[in-house]
Amino acid sequence: ARTFFVGGNFKMNGSKESISTIVQNLNKADLPSNVEVVLCPPYPYLAQVVAENKQPTVKVGAQNCYLKASGAYTGEVSPEFLKDLGVGYVVLGHSERRQYFKESDEFVADKVKFALSEGLKVILCIGETFEEKKAGKTIDVCKRELSAVAEKVKDWTNIVVAYEPIWAIGTGLAATAADAEEVHADIRKYLSTVIGAQAEEVRILYGGSAKASNVGGFRDKKNVDGFLVGGASLKPEFADIIKSRQ
Ligand code: 13P
Repeated sequence: ARTFFVGGNFKMNGSKESISTIVQNLNKADLPSNVEVVLCPPYPYLAQVVAENKQPTVKVGAQNCYLKASGAYTGEVSPEFLKDLGVGYVVLGHSERRQYFKESDEFVADKVKFALSEGLKVILCIGETFEEKKAGKTIDVCKRELSAVAEKVKDWTNIVVAYEPIWAIGTGLAATAADAEEVHADIRKYLSTVIGAQAEEVRILYGGSAKASNVGGFRDKKNVDGFLVGGASLKPEFADIIKSRQ
């Protein structure tokens, strides 16, 4: 069975104080032992979250990294720095990076490959725009983004896929559980054609306006293996999202 997974992507938000409050709240919470949680604060706060976290099921992830171990790449962050800090996960291919920082499918795939080779686990984000959805291209877009990675990475043991329809991110308009399940099932079917039986083990998260008041609706969806949460991960309700499958 796939372990339920809840990621918190803080994006470019927070301060020493507010992030400490989030971690202390989680430290106090009675979290289920069978849910894997990954907190992804901005880079400058990674070490703080690693140091303050007391929950054995809570791990720390970065929101990005580069595809070199070291060298003259001013401003970039190596997977080795992350490992050195005790950061085990990295989010790659988030739509905000694809959109605002012009990250191509191929660049994302190269970063996934490198991060995995350096021993990080990857949360690989995919998903379509509203125009693409309207044009009936949802699964085509997902396949294109996944195939770029599948061409370079054969072992997906350490990849978690996050389906994040762009129209649902930060809009308050989450996909319905039924629609998400349909896309997740299509994603898994596609993955089985490129990575075979291993597709059954890959967690597929839903992301996009996931919050405490709507995650319960995904409970019976067998291909929704968790959530990647943006805005609501900054709030106390994040603990309720973690507990939503209990
Ligand atoms: P929101 O939960 O704020 O819609 O963001 C989702 C997301 O982009 C997580 O990576």
